[in-house]
Amino acid sequence: MSHEVIRSTLVPIIYLLSTVLFIFGIKQLAKVKTSRRGNTIAGVGMLLAIIGALLELGVVDYRWIGGGLILGAFIGALFAIRVQMTAMPEMVALFNGFGGIASALVASSVYWSVVIEKKAPGTVYEALGTDEAITVMLSILIGGVTFTGSLVALLKLQGRLRKGQPILLPARHFITFGLLFASVVAGGIAVAAGAPDSMVWVLSLAGGALVLGVLLTIPIGGADMPVVVSLLNSYSGLAASMAGFVIGNPLLIIGGAMVGAAGLILTQIMCVAMNRSLLNVLVGGFGVTDGGGGGSDEYTSVTSCGPEEAAMVLENAESVIIVPGYGLAVAQAQHAVRELADLLKSRGTKVTYGIHPVAGRMPGHMNVLLAEADVPYEELLEMDVINPEFKNTDVVIVLGANDVVNPVASKDPTSPIAGMPILNAHEARSVFVVKRSLSPGYAGIKNELFEYDNTMMVFGDAKKVLQGLIGEVKSL
Ligand code: NDP
Repeated sequence: MSHEVIRSTLVPIIYLLSTVLFIFGIKQLAKVKTSRRGNTIAGVGMLLAIIGALLELGVVDYRWIGGGLILGAFIGALFAIRVQMTAMPEMVALFNGFGGIASALVASSVYWSVVIEKKAPGTVYEALGTDEAITVMLSILIGGVTFTGSLVALLKLQGRLRKGQPILLPARHFITFGLLFASVVAGGIAVAAGAPDSMVWVLSLAGGALVLGVLLTIPIGGADMPVVVSLLNSYSGLAASMAGFVIGNPLLIIGGAMVGAAGLILTQIMCVAMNRSLLNVLVGGFGVTDGGGGGSDEYTSVTSCGPEEAAMVLENAESVIIVPGYGLAVAQAQHAVRELADLLKSRGTKVTYGIHPVAGRMPGHMNVLLAEADVPYEELLEMDVINPEFKNTDVVIVLGANDVVNPVASKDPTSPIAGMPILNAHEARSVFVVKRSLSPGYAGIKNELFEYDNTMMVFGDAKKVLQGLIGEVKSL
């Protein structure tokens, strides 16, 4: 079969098949039960996409491609094997950033090879075509913003940048919008400039985009990071889609658009979960706190107990709701929590899990964690479903969760988490909060729940406490 025939018949079929696999993959990722299969299906789609792209290119130097593939696969596998479950959100943030910079580099390489290297006569849009020239600039802009924005998000998630607190520059809105405007103008001039002169404008655009990514992300703080992470995910898809237009690859356009749209839907879900408008999050500054919660940071009337006392209360409970949070992931206590739940169920107790949409450090974090321990997915109840249940529940066990059960969210409009819907754990008859200390969660604020009359703190690592509880319940 000649290369032309392969390009005109086989490649489009492969691309179509790959698109269908992406769509089915994403659809299946939406449910815990089918998500593993969805991941595999999308992975096969990606393999086909690579084969299609190689066939389309035809005569290429496979030594470079093979070398890149082996090196990339090695680094990727190494990261995937070594990454801790708790560091997954950081890894996702890094992936978004790499996606953004890859798209910007693809677009830049087309600009470089067609305009600069070949010393194209006339303007950039004459050399590349108007559509392509504009999408090159958009790729660089969105890709650059995604790259540095994701790096800042990564540092914030690690708590390395002012412990995740917002950084507010004076006149920040003026600076940010001014820079955005200047970057767009630089891109516009680059499109219309003569080939050699355009370089300085493209570099200005790239520099502006990189700084813009930092400026857009540093003022976001408090507990608003989930929105930013999903928004950056969406940006990385948009940048890839733009790169698809630049190199004329329909699959990259479709795949990028899917990531862009999925990220945008997730952003919307996260905004609803945090009860924030997207503008409110993007404008930033929310989450500036001097301790929050209106009162002082100090706890005055906290009651604590050990696993033994907690087990005695559990013995008489007819219904138990488990509220997992980030600390469960830190403690890697997912198997222990399932063991405790199985034990309680075998004694006739009704056990369910209350899943807050922003619990943990990435969307779906708790679902992934509990699925690892084969917790039946029908026991994982979303916030809207579980909230009316708390007042009829005997015991709530809050496991390494903090912000998502903080009643201050609905009481203090100045709190960094003001307006965020929470899991109403405090409405249950008894609440056990399992954590190592009275330290705050991600939003950095005091949690009123710890001082409620019906709350008992069980201090310790979640896994160790759970193991203690299992032992105590067994011995009853
Ligand atoms: P939090 O961050 O509010 O609290 C986690 C708690 O876990 C801490 O208070 C910590 O207390 C405790 N903890 C840590 N390690 C252990 C351990 N080994 N054993 C027991 N407890 C432990 O978590 P939540 O899940 O309640 O809330 C998530 C927060 O993260 C929200 O503010 C959300 O906005 C934010 N966020 C969420 C993202 C998402 O997409 N889901 C993304 C980015 C941010 P101690 O140190 O005392 O043990």
